[in-house]
Amino acid sequence: MTKHIFVTGGVVSSLGKGLTSASIGMLLEQRGLRVRMQKLDPYINVDPGTMSPYQHGEVYVLDDGSETDLDLGHYERFTSGLLSRDCNYTTGQIYLSVIEKERKGQFLGKTVQVIPHITNEIKSVVKRMGGDDVDVVITEIGGTVGDIESLPFLEAIRQFSLDVGRENVLYMHLTLVPYLKAADELKTKPTQHSVGQLRMIGIQPDVLVCRCEHSISRDDREKIALFCNVPVEAVIEEKDKDFSIYEVPLSLVENKLDELVIKKLGLTSAKPLDISPWTDLLHRLRNPHHEISIAVVGKYAEHKDAYKSIYESIDHAGMHHQAQVRIGRIQSADIEREGCERLLSGYDGILVPGGFGERGIEGKVQAVKFARERGIPFFGICLGMQCAVIDYGRNVMNLEAAHSSEFDKDTQHPVICLLDEQQNVTQMGGTMRLGSQPAKLDPESVAGKAYGVTEVNERHRHRYEFNNTYRESFEAAGLKFSGTSPDGGLVEIVEIPAHPWFCAVQFHPEFKSKPLQAHPLFAGFVGAAIERHQSRSTKDGLGVSSR
Ligand code: GLN
Repeated sequence: MTKHIFVTGGVVSSLGKGLTSASIGMLLEQRGLRVRMQKLDPYINVDPGTMSPYQHGEVYVLDDGSETDLDLGHYERFTSGLLSRDCNYTTGQIYLSVIEKERKGQFLGKTVQVIPHITNEIKSVVKRMGGDDVDVVITEIGGTVGDIESLPFLEAIRQFSLDVGRENVLYMHLTLVPYLKAADELKTKPTQHSVGQLRMIGIQPDVLVCRCEHSISRDDREKIALFCNVPVEAVIEEKDKDFSIYEVPLSLVENKLDELVIKKLGLTSAKPLDISPWTDLLHRLRNPHHEISIAVVGKYAEHKDAYKSIYESIDHAGMHHQAQVRIGRIQSADIEREGCERLLSGYDGILVPGGFGERGIEGKVQAVKFARERGIPFFGICLGMQCAVIDYGRNVMNLEAAHSSEFDKDTQHPVICLLDEQQNVTQMGGTMRLGSQPAKLDPESVAGKAYGVTEVNERHRHRYEFNNTYRESFEAAGLKFSGTSPDGGLVEIVEIPAHPWFCAVQFHPEFKSKPLQAHPLFAGFVGAAIERHQSRSTKDGLGVSSR
């Protein structure tokens, strides 16, 4: 029988429910249990893929091509289970499905209502996650308790325990215990109110995870336990982690959350916990052998979540090399105004990530040129690869008009263009090359050596491609096409062999990097940045001593 954990959040948003859910998933996996993760989002958008990164952070892409909420990135980084379309539903998708059924007459003319039709639909998408091959399903409910739009989800998960048995369900509520400076006290009232709201809906939480800046005293924990009607050992402290998000699982273990969950759900097959890979990881993070800096040049640089998986992947590669990596978030539009010299010259590596829309494109192309000419390790991702091709066309091959037809439809040299079959696409949603696709690699290339294999599968999310009519002329001018689709028809990776480390890919490797398994290309890139840093400091050192 699959057990279910529902994670809700209260008091304020941004408490890190995704990270906490992922950490619990990871701990249960480390105890030998088979875990599956799911997120239910109360917003109405049917397709998270069309939401602006400004509003909602990055769009996270799964192997099957689903465009999902970025919390699914936490799930994949912390747990081993592969996620699919079933792992992320929005209110919009739930309603759409119910309305489609109504249009087909499946409700036999009955009045279609939130209860039971919408709630049944929600319960069915949760039940679908269970099965013989899974011990625990963790379902995170987006939003905050008290929001109007999350009500149908809360009602559905309340009913869920009636359907499958209360002993098979655990309700975990994440809340905030703020510190009031003026009173020099932690305040438990917001937690009491938030749990009060849950109980009004009919959900009595089993476990409270309390986010706090300062440790919660035994007295305060007893107070929370009493007012919220939970045993005191089920009041778990989760203190802010300034150092690294990878401390979260360890702090939950210290507070015995894994034991509590296993006991409450009667998960008798659980093994003793082996957390050593994570403690080793934190040890490496705390004791770096190198310190380097990487510039990420993007359009949405000011939004901390817009390139979430890119930043995480750089961190993973840093941990792999036991290096501390400082990431500089550079607005590509600022480069257009202030120039590369001023904004990029101190960095050991430059990365241009994916993106859509014209703003800041010229700044990105200038950043590529700067990295190429100065021999600074360069990693281009998706739009970053397209910018690398544009730079090479314009500045190495003297094709002044080289551009992507995404930004200049009538350019004389559309080195990046739409594939023929996509030419007529006008709709915004669902028209991209999405999800995992194979690529074959040249074993003698930077990418081939980094991966150590000749075929890989990587996730895609783009419309435009390298224009094959230019392939021969680019090759003749020194650009190497080190990865293509297996039939050779689509360019996947370009490199400049004459450069210390210059690799740009049409896909998104950042969606497959994990803390314990850095992505080979990120590891290669950060490794090259470390080498550059070391050779520069030796040179600088010589410079100082000769003076
Ligand atoms: N805008 C480009 C395209 O559609 C790149 C997309 C991306 O970087 N994800 O091909």
